Amino acid sequence: MRAAPVTQTRSTCPYCGVGCGVIIEAQDGRITGVQGDPLHPANFGKLCTKGSTLHLTATAEVTRQARLLQPLQRLARGAQPVPIGWDAALDQASKQLARIITDHGSDAVGFYLSGQLLTEDYYAFNKLVKGLIGTNNLDTNSRLCMSSAVAGYKATLGADAPPACYEDIERAHCVFLVGSNAAWAHPILFRRLEAAKAANPAMKIIVADPRRTDTASLADLFLPVAPGTDVLMFQGLLHLMLWEGWIDHHYIADHTTGFDALKRLVRDATPERVAQECGLREADLLQAARWFAQSPATLSLYCQGLNQSSSGTAKNAALINLHLATGQIGRPGAGPLSLTGQPNAMGGREVGGMANLLSGHRDLANAAHRAEVAALWGIPAVPSAPGKTAVEMFEAAADGEIKALWIACTNPAQSMPDQRTVQRALERAELVVVQEAFATTETARHAHLLLPATTWGEKIGTVTNSERRISRVRAAVPAAGAARHDWQIAVQLAQRLETRLRPGRPTLFPYAIEPASAGAQALWEEHRASTAGRDLDITGLSWERLEQGPQQWPMPHGAAQGQSRLYTDGVFSTPDGRARFDASPYRPLSEPVDARYPFSLTTGRLRDQWHGMSRTGTLGRLFAHAPEPRMHMHPQDMQRRGFADGELVQVSSRRGALRVVLQADDQLAPTRLFMAMHWGSEFLGGRGEDGQPLLGINALTQPAFCPVSKQPELKHTAVKIAKV
Ligand code: SF4
Repeated sequence: MRAAPVTQTRSTCPYCGVGCGVIIEAQDGRITGVQGDPLHPANFGKLCTKGSTLHLTATAEVTRQARLLQPLQRLARGAQPVPIGWDAALDQASKQLARIITDHGSDAVGFYLSGQLLTEDYYAFNKLVKGLIGTNNLDTNSRLCMSSAVAGYKATLGADAPPACYEDIERAHCVFLVGSNAAWAHPILFRRLEAAKAANPAMKIIVADPRRTDTASLADLFLPVAPGTDVLMFQGLLHLMLWEGWIDHHYIADHTTGFDALKRLVRDATPERVAQECGLREADLLQAARWFAQSPATLSLYCQGLNQSSSGTAKNAALINLHLATGQIGRPGAGPLSLTGQPNAMGGREVGGMANLLSGHRDLANAAHRAEVAALWGIPAVPSAPGKTAVEMFEAAADGEIKALWIACTNPAQSMPDQRTVQRALERAELVVVQEAFATTETARHAHLLLPATTWGEKIGTVTNSERRISRVRAAVPAAGAARHDWQIAVQLAQRLETRLRPGRPTLFPYAIEPASAGAQALWEEHRASTAGRDLDITGLSWERLEQGPQQWPMPHGAAQGQSRLYTDGVFSTPDGRARFDASPYRPLSEPVDARYPFSLTTGRLRDQWHGMSRTGTLGRLFAHAPEPRMHMHPQDMQRRGFADGELVQVSSRRGALRVVLQADDQLAPTRLFMAMHWGSEFLGGRGEDGQPLLGINALTQPAFCPVSKQPELKHTAVKIAKV
């Protein structure tokens, strides 16, 4: 028999927020290869190790061993799950949800979603939860990723809109990387920076990070900033810029407000004080201030080092202050550009898929915005009470306030901080539904119902990357087993809930389930219409136009193409059109090190792994770079405390403990530790001295969060180390 022809389908990589385009090769309904899309402006054909091995995570063997292929029901906690049909599973879920809502109110349910869902998935869930169920308890793992960047942009520029674009990497004369190991976390963008530096050796690269990472190897100047002191460092840089006369007074006068208050605030951020508290040299601070302010164009690239912090919003805003004070914004090569951790954290925010947001970048706290969304959805009102954000949601479930948790495409039993609380939440909830592509996640073990979802190569819809670029995601093969698209599951649940919660009324969810492309397009069109007049207006971007290639927002009606750079006219998204300087004071870490817990532990990504490893962990070759969990420690600390490289130790915080092998690492300063975030209990199992199971790296981390963005402080935990 002749083999079927190989098909090629354009889509995107499902890993990081660079949002690379891929071409998926398939034959006989199976994915057989992947290559970079040479026409996609995010990567021009290049892929990193993770992207280039995607097809190997979709083989028949991986599918059989790791995928969730049919709905499963767990009849008792701890029991093996047994198969159940889709109709029965959704009927049961809707019945239990309706009972909990009737008995305890809408706020007794919580939905926890993912920055890896597509925009259409997010839209359907947001409408289901806020429009039908009537609660704002919908949050996502983007809270752990980008919420401080969102709050920082809104506080200063007036909207959640990254002003710069990838092309600015080639146009910049100075690039300031802060709290970002882009070499590992955003590899294709980093390759682009390497190429730009090679083409223009005069380009200055400054890297500020508590670790001397691979990213720092490209730096002309490395600032080993002490954990949690970034706001003070930025204030110190502004102090120097003021002192040296490197401020753009015309830009400040014409386009901003609030500079006098900030000027008063940074008076105390003297070079001596900043150098001492941030662990930096005064000469390096002066050099950084000079390059940043005096370069013809300065671009800042930043990520979780600023975001995952109890002062995350202040850190983001303090960096943006520097761009505004020096006029380094709204020009080619100049501006702040937050690097998105996940592939569609941006798209999720665009449709309002978080506890404090509504469709089209609207704010839940704004009554006019709530009324606009209610009119759009055809409902009397959107609830006004703020929803629970990620940490708050699991704390409320652990306390018994939230009784049902619906978790889609994310693994909080590994990724959330303070795992003991998360475990209590998952054990106490009356109903835990996990909607997932993979059967192997830690969270799946806690589910009463497991609903199989489609994943990369099967999904249909759109995503938005870090530079506001919207790309089509296309299916190259049919869904594996009985998996359904995430939006299909949300819509089918919603339609069942409607018969219980608003019987006899016209449906709010009139989307075709099949063909899936029609349903996805209908959801996209509704989202698109909701953006009219908003900062992200995409009324000029039709589905057909998107078929021709990705576009950046905004692209309002009549625009020939999307906009690559924002604020080029110096008019910002604030009521008066002026950017606002943020004068938040520097606040030290929420859990400082002390004599009992003398080390500062930070977490981060490995080059070749992704999140909880549900996909990358299926592929042996992706372990070659880092085969096992390791706790990195400076050799001086090892010597002083009598530890040896390769020794098994117990690392404890105020919340939990884990056992792990030490690795000597002089990329760190003394008293600082690093461990990758990916390793779960499968790799770090066993029991602690208290007899409790050891839960992976997030057994240690803390739930403290930024008061504005509610993003938890995953980049610092005070810990101690003992011999085992
Ligand atoms: Fe995928 Fe990110 Fe690598 Fe691009 S850089 S191939 S989006 S993981």
